[in-house]
Amino acid sequence: MSIFMELRCEDSCEEHAEGGYVYQDGTPRMERCWSYDNSGCGVHAGDTQKSGLLGIKELFDDAKKCGWIRMPHGWICPYCAEQRKRKGGASCAA
Ligand SMILES: [Zn+2]
Repeated sequence: MSIFMELRCEDSCEEHAEGGYVYQDGTPRMERCWSYDNSGCGVHAGDTQKSGLLGIKELFDDAKKCGWIRMPHGWICPYCAEQRKRKGGASCAA
């Protein structure tokens, strides 16, 4: 048996998370919060406490590599992090 863990964006209920279409070479492409598409970082860990803790570390390391940032209220996806920057102020608390 394994335990599956996935990060969910804490900003997924914010207005900016809904995103919208961007046009690249005339082709529309939806950009929005990664959690809307279940695109968060995920990891399978074994069913022991030690394995679970190692899985969480791996999950957080992968998230940082992918551009997720940890805010005081929790992890937010790269899309929402970019929206916060545009509004003037994402900062990493991790
Ligand atoms: Zn998000």
